[in-house]
Amino acid sequence: MKYRAYTLKTFKDIPQISKLTPEEIFDIEVVGEVLPFKVNNYVVDNLIDWEDVKNDPIFKLTFPQKGMLSEERYNAMADLIRNKASREDIRELSNKIRLELNPNPAGQAHNVPVLNGEKLDGIQHKYNETMLFFPSQGQTCHAFCTFCFRWPQFTNLDGHKFGMKEVEHLIEYLRQNPQITDLLFTGGDPMVMKATSFKSYIDAILAADLKSLKTIRIGTKTLGYWPYRYTNDADSKELLDVFKSITDAGLNLSVMAHFNHINELKTDVVLEAIKNIRETGAIIRTQSPIMKHLNDDADMWAKMWRKQVDLGMVPYYMFIARETGAQEYFAIDLESAWQIFRKAYSQVSGVCRTVRGPSMSATPGKVQISGITEINGEKVFVLNFIQCKNAELVGKPFFAKYKSDALWLDDLEPAFADKFIYQ
Ligand SMILES: *Cc1c(COP(=O)(O)O)cnc(C)c1O
Ligand code: SF4
Repeated sequence: MKYRAYTLKTFKDIPQISKLTPEEIFDIEVVGEVLPFKVNNYVVDNLIDWEDVKNDPIFKLTFPQKGMLSEERYNAMADLIRNKASREDIRELSNKIRLELNPNPAGQAHNVPVLNGEKLDGIQHKYNETMLFFPSQGQTCHAFCTFCFRWPQFTNLDGHKFGMKEVEHLIEYLRQNPQITDLLFTGGDPMVMKATSFKSYIDAILAADLKSLKTIRIGTKTLGYWPYRYTNDADSKELLDVFKSITDAGLNLSVMAHFNHINELKTDVVLEAIKNIRETGAIIRTQSPIMKHLNDDADMWAKMWRKQVDLGMVPYYMFIARETGAQEYFAIDLESAWQIFRKAYSQVSGVCRTVRGPSMSATPGKVQISGITEINGEKVFVLNFIQCKNAELVGKPFFAKYKSDALWLDDLEPAFADKFIYQ
């Protein structure tokens, strides 16, 4: 299948766009100036139900929606466009709004490790056992999620190029830190890169024969957005061979697949892609944030986890989304997230209950909402670190005062103590 991307400039070429009203098309033009917008022919032709497009979760996942901007911001941008303002004025307003929505676009910048006094860009090491690696050729995606705010950093990458020198640094860092068992390729989407590029990283890592490295993980949205990556792209076979070289070397290969909705599992090509990946000996683990309008539906989660298990995948995480520009549109309060998780979790068998959540990837670590309960007459959230910078705290329950509209850890206050265990 030939890949065709559509962006703000070209989306009107999508034949199915005629299913939208002129107002809806204008909404996309307005909101698309601010939020990420890139979709492709696979998503458009196979995942979106254009007959009921207003309610379609994948449409809302990929096409900007009016409600994603506040009325005030929407109107300001709409006015500029209606008045045929210059590109410069539009860009200026767009940058202003983006900054307001996401004042810290380089949120990944902390936990950058140092090797022999030199900062290692493109690497993040927060938790003992797992190191993240952001290969430069993997800093974009086959389509963009409207909730994602990582994408601005894809587009103006500060020019750094990873070459063999960077792989050497990465290997040297792994050598000096034998507590690291897992190396996670992330992005953007590392599976956007050519098989030859990925092969050069993997060959070097395998040749280094690091005894402490047990698992290579790949965080990717390709199964959802472009499953042809593993079926009939020009270098699909080569890519699958690289996967096989990892498992042949005795390492675990874990594909961390992002599926936001069960509809992403409905095509023949995704089933074929899953099968091809599994045949390399890789294990596919699945994860997704929970968000309003997209997947705030317990029955859908239960069905999705079951289907994933039927297809040989392992449900891994349900996240609570924070870093999203369209926070008001997507945000779900902690109590609702927990209720949806519980309701879904309680209707699947143990083989699906490998999933953990709902979890917030916060500064101190991954905090799970274990539940809401009453202790000594006080209603509280029971929280638990699934992952923590300070490993001593993992698995120790702690408490926060109940708050019905809390969206994030920052909104909570400690209960039965004057600070949280990590403070
Ligand atoms: C989630 C995450 C990891 C991996 O954690 P696991 O619990 O091992 O899956 C590693 N680094 C960062 C920064 C993370 O957010
Ligand atoms: S696939 Fe991941 S990195 Fe890419 S736009 Fe979606 S959430 Fe962001």
